[in-house]
Amino acid sequence: MHELSVLQHITLTLTSQLDSQALARALIEVLDHSGWAAGATLLETHYQEGMDAAPAVRLFDVELGIAHRSAPDLRGVEQALRSAGPVVLRETAQEPARIVLPIPGHTAPHRLLVLDSPSPEPMLRMQIMHLVDLFANQLRLIEARERDQLTGLLNRQAFTQTFLQLASGAAEQLGHELWLAILDIDHFKRVNDTYGHLLGDEVLLRFARVMEKSFRFNDRLFRFGGEEFLVLMRTDETGAGIALERFRAACEAYEFPVVGKVTVSIGYARANPGTLAPDLVDLADQALYQAKHEGRNRIQLANQAPVAESREAGDVELF
Ligand code: GH3
Ligand code: MG
Ligand code: MG
Repeated sequence: MHELSVLQHITLTLTSQLDSQALARALIEVLDHSGWAAGATLLETHYQEGMDAAPAVRLFDVELGIAHRSAPDLRGVEQALRSAGPVVLRETAQEPARIVLPIPGHTAPHRLLVLDSPSPEPMLRMQIMHLVDLFANQLRLIEARERDQLTGLLNRQAFTQTFLQLASGAAEQLGHELWLAILDIDHFKRVNDTYGHLLGDEVLLRFARVMEKSFRFNDRLFRFGGEEFLVLMRTDETGAGIALERFRAACEAYEFPVVGKVTVSIGYARANPGTLAPDLVDLADQALYQAKHEGRNRIQLANQAPVAESREAGDVELF
C-alpha cells in the first residue's frame, strides 16, 4: 500500500472506534499489521502501594479488555513513567531494541505503548508518533464520555456496556461468577454540611484512590453518582466478601484530610446468567439498604437464590 494511504487507513480506523477497549484493540491491530515493529503492547498503570509509591503496571489484554495474567516485560517502562517522555533502548547504535511511549492523558489509568524491535527507519518514527498522538486524542474524547471527571473512575454511562462485556462469553471463559457491589459513603451529607462541598469533593477523590489501591486490577470501578460507587468483579461469593470487607476496613482506617474518619456501607449481589444490569443494581441496592438499616460501616450480601437453584430454574424454562 502507498505510504499516504497507510496513514489514511490508520486515521480512519482509529477515529471510528466507539469505546476505549475497541480503540486499544484497533491500535494494536494496526501496529501488528504495519510491519513497523516486531511486537506492540499496551500497558496500563494502576495505583497500588500508597499515594506516593510508584504505580503498578499491568499488561492490557486488548481482546478481553482486562489485565493479562503473565507479568509484563518492564524494560524502559519505569524510566518512561518518570520522565513522562519516550524512552529508546538500543541494541546497537543504529538498531533500537525497544521504544516505550507514554500516552498523554489526564485521567487514570495512564497508558504506555511498547514497541519491540521497531524499524530503525527515521520516517517510521514520525509515523508512529503520529499514531500515538491520534490514539491519545481519540482516547481523550472517549474518556470524556466514559470517565467521571472528579475521580477518573468509569462513570454511570460506561456501566451497562462494561457489564455486558464482562457478562459475555469471552470473559466467562476466565471462570468465576460476576459480582456487583454498591458502595455508599456513610453520612456524607454531614461531611458537606460540616466542612463544605470542596472538602466533600476531596473525600470523594481520596475514596476513589483507596478503591483503586484496595481492589484488584481486573475489577471495574465506577462512580455511579454523588457518593455512590460500583465495583464489578469476577470471583465467587467468598472472594467477593473478602475483597469488599478488605475495602471497608481500608476506608475505615484511612485518614481523610481535615475530615478524618469516613466509613462506607456496601451491598453486593451475583449476576446469574441472563441477569439484566438494572435488576442486578436493584438487588445490590436492597442489600445496601439493609447494611444502612443495620448500622452502616458493613457489607451485606443480597438475598438471592444460590447458583444451583437458579440454574435449575433456568433449565425448567428452557426445556
Ligand atoms: P447515608 O449514610 O444514609 O448514605 O447518609 P448520606 O448523608 O451519605 O446520604 P444521602 O444520600 O442523603 O446524601 C448524599 C449526599 O451526597 C448529598 C449530596 O449533597 C452529596 N453529594 C452528592 N454528589 C456530590 C458531589 O459531587 N460532591 C459533594 N461534595 N457532595 C455530593
Ligand atoms: Mg447515597
Ligand atoms: Mg451515603
